[in-house]
Amino acid sequence: MDIHLYNTLTRQKEVFRPLDPQRVTMYVCGPTVYNYAHIGNARPAVVFDTLYRLMQRNFPAVVYARNVTDVDDRINQSAKDQGVPISVITDRYLAAYHADMGALGVLPPTIEPKVTQHIGAIIAMIERLIATGNAYEEDGQVLFHVPSFKDYGQLSRRDRDDMIAGARVDVAPYKRDPADFTLWKPSTPDMTGWDSPWGRGRPGWHIECSAMIERNFGIGPIDIHGGGHDLIFPHHENEIAQSTCAHNGALFCRVWMHNGFVNINAEKMSKSLGNVTLVHNLLELAPGEALRLVLLSAHYRQPLDWTETAVKDARAQLDRLYRALDSLKDVQASDGPAPAGFMAALADDLNTPKALAELHQIANAANKASDAAERARLKGELLACGWLLGLLQQDPAAWMKGAGAADVDTAAIEALIAERKAARARKDWAESDRIRDDLAAKGILLEDKAGETTWRVAS
Ligand SMILES: [Zn+2]
Repeated sequence: MDIHLYNTLTRQKEVFRPLDPQRVTMYVCGPTVYNYAHIGNARPAVVFDTLYRLMQRNFPAVVYARNVTDVDDRINQSAKDQGVPISVITDRYLAAYHADMGALGVLPPTIEPKVTQHIGAIIAMIERLIATGNAYEEDGQVLFHVPSFKDYGQLSRRDRDDMIAGARVDVAPYKRDPADFTLWKPSTPDMTGWDSPWGRGRPGWHIECSAMIERNFGIGPIDIHGGGHDLIFPHHENEIAQSTCAHNGALFCRVWMHNGFVNINAEKMSKSLGNVTLVHNLLELAPGEALRLVLLSAHYRQPLDWTETAVKDARAQLDRLYRALDSLKDVQASDGPAPAGFMAALADDLNTPKALAELHQIANAANKASDAAERARLKGELLACGWLLGLLQQDPAAWMKGAGAADVDTAAIEALIAERKAARARKDWAESDRIRDDLAAKGILLEDKAGETTWRVAS
């Protein structure tokens, strides 16, 4: 099946064919680790994780790099304020990032290059850019000279005045052109820095990704470069300029993909979710799987409204899907692929809303099916589709018991169910109903089937 992806560079959907049919290469700009990840930072992680899963199912190998920016002025400031080395800050927040993304079902990327481990590659690339006349040193700074690259602006399609305004550049005296951007800057003695031919300093942000891509993938184009929409300009425009000039004009990336923003409207949020925007805190209020489903509920290029209703709806959807899966617990899932309709949706520029609708269709069919072979096939399809979306991989019973608020007291519920069972055994229907109604009032629903009582959290 052909996969079509929207390429920001050409502004159209194109059939995706990796340069090497055996191996897809993809790079996504990852976190700057100075704080907990915001839900807006989680969107590219989840979107490109879903793309990574789709590529894994369609090609023999995928190399997915998601970098970590572990030196930055905000990190430096935080380390200085706390009187600790920057690694204390970056280790702490990288661990938190891994934990948060793990809770959202994000698979670890194949490689996770860190800036501080690529300083040599960064310096070498800057030296080459100076040698080719694309960069210059002035006052301990090294700058990329934008007019030296005639295709500058091809990705963002901005004209020169827009670019200068958009980059919010101050017209510093050391700049030969107002659009020129920093490759290397000096560090004061109390600031993190590395020795370089231009004195002790640290890299600018844009050069990091160019150097990490070169070091990990070599010269020549990678297949896919992704990130948030806000990175198109100046970050990705600058990456193209640096890498193309440092590589004698060789193509840098074949397909550019960008996800839309997450809009947070605090006014629309009630107190319980109001102003909670860090994944770390959201996970205290809702299961990670539900947060992931919200992030996949809009097409990745569209803006996404983050609302309490959306989170609630995602939980209800997962409740339905897990209930369908639970009803199939007596059959062994067939080991088949995800069905064509579902795959076609994902292959159409990662149309996750359509793919989710297809998933619900399968769940509906599962709820109606009685034939054992069909039920086994539908169970296999639910799990295969679920894996591609990063959903439905936990035990349905665990989901139904854990889906509600964190204050669900499993032991107390089980004890009440046992009491109710005893009441029913002595035909005390009034007591049995009282216990059931009490639990229902607390959002716990009981279901009696074949002499057994199960419970779940109401959605
Ligand atoms: Zn980047």
